[in-house]
Amino acid sequence: MAEKLKFAFYWAASCGGCEVAVLDIDQKILDVIQVADIVFWPCAMDFKYKDVEAMEDKSIDVCFFNGAVRSSEQEHLAHLLRRKSKVMVAFGSCACFGGIPGLANLYTKEEIMRRQYIETPTTVNPEKTMPQTSYMAPEGELTIPEFYESVNSLGQVIDVDYYLPGCPPPPELVVAAVEAIAKGNLPAAPAIIAGNKTVCEECPRTKAEKIVKKFKRVHQVIPEDDVCLLEQGIVCCGPGTRSGCGAQCLQVNMPCRGCFGPPDHVTDQGAKLLSALTSIMDAEDPEKIMEITKSIADPAGTFYRFSMPVSLLEKKHFTKEASEKKDVAEVK
Ligand code: SF4
Ligand code: SF4
Ligand code: SF4
Repeated sequence: MAEKLKFAFYWAASCGGCEVAVLDIDQKILDVIQVADIVFWPCAMDFKYKDVEAMEDKSIDVCFFNGAVRSSEQEHLAHLLRRKSKVMVAFGSCACFGGIPGLANLYTKEEIMRRQYIETPTTVNPEKTMPQTSYMAPEGELTIPEFYESVNSLGQVIDVDYYLPGCPPPPELVVAAVEAIAKGNLPAAPAIIAGNKTVCEECPRTKAEKIVKKFKRVHQVIPEDDVCLLEQGIVCCGPGTRSGCGAQCLQVNMPCRGCFGPPDHVTDQGAKLLSALTSIMDAEDPEKIMEITKSIADPAGTFYRFSMPVSLLEKKHFTKEASEKKDVAEVK
């Protein structure tokens, strides 16, 4: 019997859904176990970081890394696992593009800390005590990881060989990737294991060249089954999102949320979506366009839900002066 492969799984700034996605492949997990041993999986098994540190470099065949990178611990593990692994896979939208945690880049670290530890209605912190990375207790120094200024995708921190997008990646894609690994059929790295068209191109709904007077949220309308949701005034991210999921959300009357990120020909997913939406608005003059635009709830969170850290905006840039001015304005 051929020697088994060695797989590692790690989660960084992640909701845990990508870990569950590994189990979503159901009985196929038994096929995985036939071809691979899992040598590191903190979510499911009691491994210590020192176990990984003790491994020989490149002794892990494939590391599936989910979650974005926001802390010194996550960055350390990204570099360590890169050194120990022959193939690094960014597993899920958070690792591929920053994902949902990446929306925190709309705020500065200082704003996040202030909100979390001082301003939330349930917080009682009259001393305004903030977390410190080190504390000298009588028993010795205690440390916690550093919370970085902004969120990064995995590819912004280390070299990534393969990107498996999705929030989480659909089981069919996970199985296809594992089979390709087992058979040595992976494409040349770096590569994205998904389609390279848009979700619109695999969507079964028909476009009728309708124009939109107002955008509505999904709970405000019962959509027609076969007609493009965007043309029914429901914001759908299909025009700026990579294919490969089989337009699965559209099959159940839900709009695409953009979780596969932008296809190769789209530089900025949010800008592409904004352009797609303005092209179907029933308005020519700026005032009317602005009025219709205002009917879109949370535009930044809608257009950049999964891709903020890899977008042209990337993160909120505050100069010290602008930040101070903002603080003064808030006090007034
Ligand atoms: S990609 Fe989605 S499911 Fe996976 S960790 Fe991020 S938020 Fe969770
Ligand atoms: S915008 Fe959405 S509903 Fe319309 S064709 Fe594209 S994916 Fe389908
Ligand atoms: S339709 Fe859009 S949101 Fe739904 S799985 Fe596909 S890419 Fe993700």
